[in-house]
Amino acid sequence: MILIYTQNWDGKFKKLSYELVSYGAAIAKQMNTEVVALSIGNVANNELQSLGKYGASKVVSVNDPNLSVVDNKIYAKTISEAVNKYNAKVILFANNNEGKAIAPRISAKFKAALITGVGKLPKSVEPFVICKKVYTGKASVDVKVNSDIKVLTLFQNSFGVVEAPVDAEIETLELTIDTPTIKVIEQSKSTGKVLLNDAEIVVSGGRGMKSGDNWAGIEQLAEILNGGTACSRPVSDEGWRPHGEHVGQTGKIIAPNVYFALGISGAIQHLGGVSNSKCIVAINTDKEAPIFEAADYGIIGDVHKILPELIEEVKKLKS
Ligand SMILES: Cc1cc2nc3c(=O)[nH]c(=O)nc-3n(C[C@H](O)[C@H](O)[C@H](O)COP(=O)(O)OP(=O)(O)OC[C@H]3O[C@@H](n4cnc5c(N)ncnc54)[C@H](O)[C@@H]3O)c2cc1C
Repeated sequence: MILIYTQNWDGKFKKLSYELVSYGAAIAKQMNTEVVALSIGNVANNELQSLGKYGASKVVSVNDPNLSVVDNKIYAKTISEAVNKYNAKVILFANNNEGKAIAPRISAKFKAALITGVGKLPKSVEPFVICKKVYTGKASVDVKVNSDIKVLTLFQNSFGVVEAPVDAEIETLELTIDTPTIKVIEQSKSTGKVLLNDAEIVVSGGRGMKSGDNWAGIEQLAEILNGGTACSRPVSDEGWRPHGEHVGQTGKIIAPNVYFALGISGAIQHLGGVSNSKCIVAINTDKEAPIFEAADYGIIGDVHKILPELIEEVKKLKS
């Protein structure tokens, strides 16, 4: 059995949950087994059912007031109960903060190998061999996994959301949940914007933008394309943009369909967070900038002149 740890926000599954189920369903096919999706929190029945569209034959829901805050220790205990109950052999998490915090606990508990940052299906399931990226995406290695249980974290947007409809059986799991050891005092949620991790198109600016006052064009292009905005680390360090937008080795790792890198040199630490993008478009005055090695389309020139023209052209295409 493949167990998927899904994530929801206010009772709605995040896109990554559908991707995880799609990926899990493809591995289940290779292993000739089934997918159980675990939902934690207050999620309505029709929402639970939606996971069936991507191949979850069973959706297990655990809902308890003590799970309203993500306490890694308590969540890991809850997931462990499901691992035991459904005799899961592969447990899948997203390769995000939550997944990376909980997956090692599951790995330690079950003496299971933990393979972080996978993006492709196993090359074989007997023996279990899977490819993962190393050195911030500069290289990849094939890992042979010998443990009976395997824990994997999947890079977001690496596999995609794939429909494989089955009738999902919904099951409620009644567990005794411990009181969380942490308390959330305040929560702030960005509204009205496309979340960076979910964005299909990301428009990102670097130090070549010269100042935080020059972001109107980036925001405008992102809005027209229904995309998200991002930046390089120096930009957020300077306070030109919020830290939540910083992508790279020490920031968010994203893999949109299109990544616009505007005035970004393309340092290895930056590419570590964006190199999985399906298409990279770069604008830079320096034809030797490393971003052009990673880019699919490159424009050598001043971003302050080219961006307004690009916006006009995109507007024409959209009208
Ligand atoms: C441990 C460590 C972790 C790091 N983690 C990250 C990370 O997570 N993310 C990250 O981004 N960085 C990270 N960095 C920093 C990284 O090494 C680079 O310094 C940084 O990515 C450079 O940002 P930049 O490209 O915006 O700026 P710069 O390197 O200053 O590049 C600016 C670019 O803009 C171009 N330019 C200038 N003017 C124009 C113009 N008018 N029009 C078009 N182009 C123009 C220049 O040719 C240049 O290529 C990390 C560094 C370390 C040591």
